[in-house]
Amino acid sequence: MRMEELVEKLNKYAYEYYVLDNPTVSDKEYDVLYDELVKLEKETGVVLFNSPTKRVGGEPISAFKKHNHIERLYSLDKVVSIDELEDYFNRVRKIIKEDPTYTVEYKFDGLTICLTYEDGKFTRATTRGNGVTGEDVTAQVLTVKSFPLTIDYKGKIEVQGEAIIRLSKLEEINKTINVPLKNARNAVAGAIRNLDPKVTASRQVEIMFYNVNYMEESALKSQKECVEFLRNNGFKVSPFLAICKTKEEVISAINDIEKARKTLDILTDGVVIKVDDFNKRNELGFTDKFPRWAVAYKFEAEEITTILEEVIWQVGRTGKLTPLGLLAPVEIGGATVKKATLNNYQDVLRKQVKINSRVLVRRSNEVIPEILGVTEVFEDSKEVIKPTICPYCGTNLLEIGPNLFCPNKLCKPRVIASLTHFSSKEGMNIEGFSEMTVTTIYEELGVRKFTDIYNLTKEDLLKLEGFKEQKANNVITAIEKSKEVDFANFIFSLGIENVGKKTAKDLSEIFKDFDSLKNANVESLSEIEDVGEIMAKSIFEYFNNETKMEEVLSLLKILKINYPVSTKKEGIFSGERVVLTGTLNGFKRDEAGKIIENLGGEVLSSVSKNTTMVLAGENAGSKLDKARKLGVKIIDEETFKFMIKS
Ligand code: NAD
Repeated sequence: MRMEELVEKLNKYAYEYYVLDNPTVSDKEYDVLYDELVKLEKETGVVLFNSPTKRVGGEPISAFKKHNHIERLYSLDKVVSIDELEDYFNRVRKIIKEDPTYTVEYKFDGLTICLTYEDGKFTRATTRGNGVTGEDVTAQVLTVKSFPLTIDYKGKIEVQGEAIIRLSKLEEINKTINVPLKNARNAVAGAIRNLDPKVTASRQVEIMFYNVNYMEESALKSQKECVEFLRNNGFKVSPFLAICKTKEEVISAINDIEKARKTLDILTDGVVIKVDDFNKRNELGFTDKFPRWAVAYKFEAEEITTILEEVIWQVGRTGKLTPLGLLAPVEIGGATVKKATLNNYQDVLRKQVKINSRVLVRRSNEVIPEILGVTEVFEDSKEVIKPTICPYCGTNLLEIGPNLFCPNKLCKPRVIASLTHFSSKEGMNIEGFSEMTVTTIYEELGVRKFTDIYNLTKEDLLKLEGFKEQKANNVITAIEKSKEVDFANFIFSLGIENVGKKTAKDLSEIFKDFDSLKNANVESLSEIEDVGEIMAKSIFEYFNNETKMEEVLSLLKILKINYPVSTKKEGIFSGERVVLTGTLNGFKRDEAGKIIENLGGEVLSSVSKNTTMVLAGENAGSKLDKARKLGVKIIDEETFKFMIKS
């Protein structure tokens, strides 16, 4: 019977998720089965005794001492669309006969933690467990530095928050451990529910608080007051709390969070909408599992598991081989995903990725989907074989650090990637030069070098399939147009290893012309902010490579490069090359920059030996340090004001 099958499967997944902190399927896959079970239970009126729809979380494990929460901790009902949210609003209105004020908060995706305080002192930390009984994780939580051990409130109280690991911290941790943690939620659950508090400490957990679950003689009347109480007693709370008087305001707050979460350093899986007024909450009450006064609006899933069918190796511009996983197609966030990247050969080894294993894939913020790790290995799973020769040109590969490289500079995908990079928007900006077009001109017209592009004629292009008069004309016009180019774009287009858009711009601003850049030594290059020694070396090597320079010099004969010129004005800043850093009180930074330029100065974005002055506002960081190291003159805002007045 389908219901029994679903209950069995869901209970197995819940055990792996809540007890082992090691799920084999993604939340999305779990939710689909869960929703199917809810629907069947509604239709048949039958709810099996062990149905997960009756239970919160997982049973506490015996390795930890048990603790009975003073008040039960609930889960949250969920909606996944605005239509479903409207249904939720209607359900609330039916009970309390009005639309209440709602609060909207981030739904952090971590592990619920409940802290008990007595007589103003922290006494215990527990997990949610099954909602009634949790696990005592006091020793582990004591390694978390960001919650108060004493509070002003002296009655007995239990507060609830979400233990999280910041995404940037997770990235750092993953660099130091053998098998990377797959995501921040599993990572924090594994850190807190770890018998060794030293492991918890090393994971740098934080707790974000959002609820007072029990309070002796509570005077709190609303969620707003509850959050204020938490903040005033020294608990970390999210700075975002929208108080929404109308349903439209709720939807607008959801939209705000949906945008802002993309740059947040904490994993979120939705927003939580709560009835603000506690009296109204009492009227609404609870179901077996959820409060009726709150609901989670879940975002579209970004992670899913699927079978890795094959790994192929791609060769990039620098010759680096990147493993690409071919997947059994799956839907993530409305798109079908068939391929996902692994960073390099070492990444395959560390993540213990095997062909025909179940892997967890993430697709977020429109970036290339990535394989995060393996969730299940089968009997017929196979090792990924490390290639020894280039799959495109047969040259013996080199292994440098975690990467494999094809050293053949003429290897076809290398040449195509470097021509595509050359023509890209941030480079020479040749409109219509997609990777496909570049591949065609490589294959059909023998284009290999940058200069070959400028020797193409309309007649050449007309020979190609799909190229008619109009298209050929467009391409020739685009090539002609690209001949006039800004110095920064030109530097980027060369594809110097490690040099991205920003560095190209910095190099153009600092060196101002080709010869100065070409003659720069490693030392002066590495003095530039954000240019480390490795990058400085690769820039130096590029401009000292004879073959490369031969091609660049022929290019220079064809192109008209716009070098950065400062329209010289005279004034108190004449001859000064100024870097602005920190926060100014009286000016916006670009405003101050304009003033400096109008008074004869030149504004640079990074500190180097070329800098003659730094205008440092409040909280200036690394630029100021660098200026001090180089002995560059530093002025503050007061001096700046004085100078411009005089
Ligand atoms: P939930 O995580 O969907 O929602 C409830 C939790 O949200 C609360 O307990 C709290 O910890 C958290 N939360 C974060 N911010 C909050 C805020 N501002 N206010 C209130 N609460 C906040 O519910 P759940 O019962 O913890 O877990 C159910 C979900 O777990 C399922 O929908 C599924 O996605 C996932 N799950 C996955 C598997 C799997 O195998 N992958 C198995 C079981 C459960």
